[in-house]
Amino acid sequence: MNIIAFSKALYSTWIYYSPERILFDAGEGVATMLTNKIYAVRHVFLTHGHVDHIAGLWSIINTRNNAMGDREKPLTVYYPSGNKGIELYADFLRKANSELRFKLDFVPLKDGEKVFLRNSTTTNRYIKPFSVVHTYSETAFGYHLIEVRRRLKEEYRNLPKEEITRLVKSYGSESVTETYEKKILTISGDTILLKKEDVADTEILFHECTFLKKEDRKFNNHASLDEVIELVKDANVQTLILYHISSRYIRSIEKVIKKIQIPGTKILYVHPERVFEF
Ligand SMILES: [Zn+2]
Ligand SMILES: [Zn+2]
Repeated sequence: MNIIAFSKALYSTWIYYSPERILFDAGEGVATMLTNKIYAVRHVFLTHGHVDHIAGLWSIINTRNNAMGDREKPLTVYYPSGNKGIELYADFLRKANSELRFKLDFVPLKDGEKVFLRNSTTTNRYIKPFSVVHTYSETAFGYHLIEVRRRLKEEYRNLPKEEITRLVKSYGSESVTETYEKKILTISGDTILLKKEDVADTEILFHECTFLKKEDRKFNNHASLDEVIELVKDANVQTLILYHISSRYIRSIEKVIKKIQIPGTKILYVHPERVFEF
């Protein structure tokens, strides 16, 4: 199990990715529900400043500062540059916790700015934020976790194994291979439907799906189920995880999502009242 998440639109959303000790968003209840895993969190990436995505940060900071766990581990919180709500909250958190025992940093990020995860076991992974459209008054991001990998160059892919071994011996592996970037995980944040280029070829896509029925949506600042399915259909996504689902669908959600099939894509969802594990 690599992922623990909770998400109920308007109330609380957070996704913990344990291999890199990253928390995407920090909605209310996160410290309570993650219990001692809260000490393992190294990076927090905030998608935007709505209270259902940031309220739990105060508890995380307070718990790490006062409980029995490891109190010295630094914590870095990244957020969309220029997001006024988050900056005000960060300012408050710094003032309210003036005697912190650990290093707490708030780091504004620009669209596309890479954050290398140097504390991870693999140093070839980084986080890359991308702009999404949510409300017009504030900046909002989605995030990719990207791994830089190597593969055989196109022209060598159909050669027999022995031939490739010979080429590697004579010319070195650098000359027959090339690097490419693989999206391991994509988190949409709160947004209207993402662009095809953002979701294409990702292994795990968390796409927000506030509305199961498009007719229930009054303002165009969230995605609906039919749109997400249409987008993912031929985007080569291994696993689609629908989240940020409105609690109005609690009774119908299972039936509705069971009916959907996308060839080649596994579909899961974060139930608005249960902790999700994957
Ligand atoms: Zn939200
Ligand atoms: Zn929001």
